[in-house]
Amino acid sequence: MHVHMVGNGREGSGGWLRLSRWHGWLASFMVKQLGLPANSLQGNLEARYAEVLRQFVRESSLDAVVLLAHERVHEADGTLRADLGSMFVPNDVVLGLAKQHPEFLAGVAIHPARPDALDELDRCVAEGAVLMKCLPNCQNIAVSDVRYRPFWQRMADYRLPLLAHTGGEHTVPVINAAFADPKLLRLPLECGVTVIAAHCGTSSGVFDRDYFVDWVKMLGEFPNLYGDISAMVSLNRCSHLLDCLGDEIAPRILHGSDFPVPVLGHRLRLQGVLDQQSFRRIQKLQNPLERDWQFKQALGFTDEISTRVTALLRLPDDCESGGVPSHSKTQATEEPGLQ
Ligand SMILES: [Zn+2]
Repeated sequence: MHVHMVGNGREGSGGWLRLSRWHGWLASFMVKQLGLPANSLQGNLEARYAEVLRQFVRESSLDAVVLLAHERVHEADGTLRADLGSMFVPNDVVLGLAKQHPEFLAGVAIHPARPDALDELDRCVAEGAVLMKCLPNCQNIAVSDVRYRPFWQRMADYRLPLLAHTGGEHTVPVINAAFADPKLLRLPLECGVTVIAAHCGTSSGVFDRDYFVDWVKMLGEFPNLYGDISAMVSLNRCSHLLDCLGDEIAPRILHGSDFPVPVLGHRLRLQGVLDQQSFRRIQKLQNPLERDWQFKQALGFTDEISTRVTALLRLPDDCESGGVPSHSKTQATEEPGLQ
């Protein structure tokens, strides 16, 4: 449910990748983790990346992943700030890949201040979008700005869920740190949008504010609020992972990987929540999607965290009626295990 598409637009997609020294180092590390050649960041990254990712999905326990576009930074008045941000993955890239490959479902990205936001939303839904993703703190989105009400209402009408980044962020540059607060997701929730708070508001670095408790409080108020545990099998974002197994919280948890963010179980092992045998067996799995999934299973998360999202996504007709997509790896009697 939370897998990033990455590309540099070399083949004319219109996307771009612009990396500072720190983000360039991070990107090179991620490229290496994927087994891609070191010069991939300069070559046709989109095709190579999509192919490697498809292979990972096919060889994992998952049937399909929601592949995310990445929006550009905009001012509140809708002005595009092409000088800010580190990457742009146009919606057509993920919509196109989802049409070609059953391993991918399209997660589009639209800044609600864009002058064409509603038209783009209509177009993306018609083209098969299953959710909309944004990073309010990195794309400068004051989610509860009343000017965006028509946009959230249209999303609610379409039953298109919103996956919104919450908590700190260190993989893409932050424009407005205050927008990491899940309490700012109130307006789309009130409009009836299913909102998934990515990372459950957890902090990413030692100096970030942690909003996990704020997010938990909101669960009581909004039955349409969820959280994903993407990037939480890591060195920096794992502190609340076990809290997500609690009786009150677990029914609102969805599985996401945040691929290509590395999956590292070392800190969980040091904390003693993973036994040495499981840690060694799972950490050496070459497939990062499978490694992430197996770590979560070893910690006690059930299959429901991956299947629950099936009822929330705006899936094509063959899934909406409870049918199982033709590519499903699960038995016909089970729900498809989507991520
Ligand atoms: Zn992410």
